[in-house]
Amino acid sequence: MQEKYTDAKPTNSAKKGGEEVKILDGKSLALQIKEEIANEVRQLTADGHRAPHLAAIIVGNDGASQTYVASKEKSSHEVGFTSSVYRMSESTSEQQLLESIEFLNSDPDIDGFIVQLPLPKHIDEQKIINAISPNKDVDGFTPINVGRMVLGQECFVPATPMGICTLLKRNGIETEGKHCVVIGRSNIVGTPVANLLSRKGFDCTVTLCHSRTRNLAELTRQADILIVAIGKPEFVTADMVKPGAVVIDVGIHRIPDESKKSGYRIIGDVKHQEVDPLCSWVTPVPGGVGPLTIVSLLENTLLAYKRNNK
Ligand code: NAP
Repeated sequence: MQEKYTDAKPTNSAKKGGEEVKILDGKSLALQIKEEIANEVRQLTADGHRAPHLAAIIVGNDGASQTYVASKEKSSHEVGFTSSVYRMSESTSEQQLLESIEFLNSDPDIDGFIVQLPLPKHIDEQKIINAISPNKDVDGFTPINVGRMVLGQECFVPATPMGICTLLKRNGIETEGKHCVVIGRSNIVGTPVANLLSRKGFDCTVTLCHSRTRNLAELTRQADILIVAIGKPEFVTADMVKPGAVVIDVGIHRIPDESKKSGYRIIGDVKHQEVDPLCSWVTPVPGGVGPLTIVSLLENTLLAYKRNNK
């Protein structure tokens, strides 16, 4: 994560209220990166090597988890990876899950795998994550990979923070010396992205906010780059944003909407209608961070393939 990208061009732009607001178009960028991965996989298989193999374990029938795993599987196929999904029932015991993880850890044909979260309540999530081999931990959730990331060592970076970094880099957004305010300190988004953006290569000055932060709006109004991962629909309003800020909305919420064929629409943690006109750059929801999250998982799998087959 040390290198800087300054050569990339804006992916899209739109006129809002007379001001130019550039859209951080995750959907197009994800397609472009998938094409790059697919080309590499085509070359590998043409040279007689096997394709990279990503596996996923899903326990139970949570609807959102089923959707996420299905889209990871679809994306894997699109780039030419082999993909396996191990579906286990809601009543699977912790021991059975640990045994499945051990099986995947030792299968030489599997380069990386994920255990889709959340897990049923009777299973200790941290115990399960700790059992994943750090060499196959393409979600970057194991303590070894988190520790390596914090130390700036070779590791697997968690997919969503990695996707946010990719969006900034590939769009040539200047980060050095900028004040980045992150709302939310989860282990999968807020904390790792705050760490990554404060490191050499990005060189932001980072403020990490959470539910005990005082005067939140006062802090967010100082942000050159505002990253919102709070999990509350349309929480960030115009009065919380500095004109000209870069705003990254990580939130995903399904809101019932009878006008849609699906019966719902997706909104984020930012009230885009009023915030977007203020921004220099902004991620749409959907089509911003989400597509980059899946692509980052594919990038980590390709990396695992290369590292594990040296
Ligand atoms: P999370 O684990 O629920 O964490 C939410 C964070 O927000 C916590 O750190 C919490 O603080 C903080 N918070 C809650 N209320 C607050 C308030 N009033 N003021 C300031 N901070 C507050 O959420 P997450 O897993 O990081 O996910 C965040 C959102 O991103 C969700 O909508 C999720 O669906 C979405 N997401 C999207 C992707 C993607 O690919 N686009 C990936 C992952 C997650 P405390 O720590 O003090 O409780």
